[in-house]
Amino acid sequence: MNKADIIIIGGAITGSSAAYFLSKDGRAGRVVVIETDSTYERATTPQAAGGIRQLFSRPENIAMSQFGLPFYQTFDEDMAVEDETPGVNFRFKGYLFVATSDNEAEIMRSNADVQTAAGAKVELMDGTAMQARFPSMSADDVKLACYSSDDGWIEPSAALWGFRKKAVSLGAEYVQGRVMGMDTEGTAVRRLHLESGDVWEAGAVINAAGPWAGEVAAMAGVDVPVAPMSRAAYFWRCAEPVEDLPLIKDDHKLFIRAEGDGFIGGAPTFEIKPGFNWDFDRGYFADYFEKTVWPLLAQRVPKFERIKLERTFGGHYSENLFDANMIIGRISKEIENLYMAAGFSGHGIMHAPAVGRALAELILDGEFKSLDLTRLGMQRVWDDTPYPELGIK
Ligand SMILES: Cc1cc2nc3c(=O)[nH]c(=O)nc-3n(C[C@H](O)[C@H](O)[C@H](O)COP(=O)(O)OP(=O)(O)OC[C@H]3O[C@@H](n4cnc5c(N)ncnc54)[C@H](O)[C@@H]3O)c2cc1C
Repeated sequence: MNKADIIIIGGAITGSSAAYFLSKDGRAGRVVVIETDSTYERATTPQAAGGIRQLFSRPENIAMSQFGLPFYQTFDEDMAVEDETPGVNFRFKGYLFVATSDNEAEIMRSNADVQTAAGAKVELMDGTAMQARFPSMSADDVKLACYSSDDGWIEPSAALWGFRKKAVSLGAEYVQGRVMGMDTEGTAVRRLHLESGDVWEAGAVINAAGPWAGEVAAMAGVDVPVAPMSRAAYFWRCAEPVEDLPLIKDDHKLFIRAEGDGFIGGAPTFEIKPGFNWDFDRGYFADYFEKTVWPLLAQRVPKFERIKLERTFGGHYSENLFDANMIIGRISKEIENLYMAAGFSGHGIMHAPAVGRALAELILDGEFKSLDLTRLGMQRVWDDTPYPELGIK
C-alpha cells in the first residue's frame, strides 16, 4: 500500500503551487501529487495568456492578485533549483479594461473605487485620453477605460514548472497516473484508486484537477458545479507596426496581448455548451474567428484589419457554473479531509500563488490565515448566495 499524508490530484499550476507551499512549510509530512500527463498537453495552464491584474470587483480577487504580483516578480530567484531558473519573463505592460456601454462604465467606476481602496493604482480615462495613450486603439465606441499600470503577464508553463521543480526539491513527489476512484469511510476519503491498479492511502486529499474537478469530486460522491468550458485563442501577426499595448479586455469579452512579434487574443463564445472539445484549429472555432473575433479585433485596434492568423489553439476553463468565481476549501459537509480549488475561469494563473498558500494554511492550520477566502467556499453554493465578479470578468 502506498501511503501519503496529503495527496494532490492534478499537478498543473494549482496542484503544484499547493505542493510547493505545503512542502515549504515543513509540517505537511509526505506530499504526493498524482498527475495524469506530465507533458500537460491537455491541461489548461499551458494555454493561458498568463495575465495578472488587480482589475476585479471582489476584494478577495484583488488581494489574491496583489499577492501574486510581487510573488511572480521574484519567482525566478525564489523558485531557482541549483542553477536552473524557471524564466516566467514578467512583462509589466499594464492592463486596460474598456467599457462600451453606459451600464458597463458605471460598474467600472464603482469597481475602480473598490480597487483604489484596496491599494491598486488604477486610472479611469475617457476614449480620447485612452487613444492619446495608445494611439493604435479606436475610441469610437468607448464610454470609459480603466488602466492598471502595475499589472502585466507571465509565461504560464514556466510558472507551472517553477512551482513543480521547487516543490520536488523540497520533498514533494509526483506520480504519473490517473485517479479513477475514491473510497470514503465515515467522514474521510481513505484510498485513491489509480488507472494502473495502484492504490494510495491518503490523510487529506486536494482536488486540483482543473476542468476535470467536477468528475474527480464525483468519485467521492460529491457534487460541485464545476465543468469544462472550451476557450479558443488565436495568434496573429499584424501588417503594420503597433506600439506597446497593455493586456486589453473589453466588455465584448475580447482580450488582446502582445506575444513575441505578434499577438494572442480571443473572445469567448456563449454558443457552445460546457464539455470538452479539442478541435480548436478547425470547424466551429476557425469560423468563429472570421465571423466574430476578427471584427471585434479590428474595432478595438483598426490596424488589425490587416492581420495574418497563424495559429488557433485553446484549452478549457474550469468553470464554476454557479457564479463563475473560484471554489476553494472543503467541498463536502460530511467528508472532512477532501479539499478543492477549481472553477477559476480565466484567473487561475494570477491566483495560483494565493490559492496554494491558502490550501496549505487550511490543511495545516485548519483555517485561512493570510487571506480570508471563506466567501469563495462551497457554503455559498449550499446557501444559494452567488458571489460573482461584477463587470468585465
Ligand atoms: C485561452 C485561455 C486564456 C487564459 N488566460 C488566463 C490569464 O490571462 N490569466 C490567468 O490567471 N488565467 C488564465 N486562464 C485560466 C488558467 O489557465 C487556469 O485557470 C489555470 O491554468 C488552471 O490551472 P489548474 O492547475 O487548476 O488546471 P489545469 O491546468 O487544467 O490542470 C489540471 C490537471 O489535473 C490533471 N488531472 C485531471 N484529472 C485527473 C485525474 N483524475 N487524475 C490525475 N490528474 C488529473 C490534468 O491532467 C491537468 O494536468 C486562461 C485559460 C484559457 C483556456
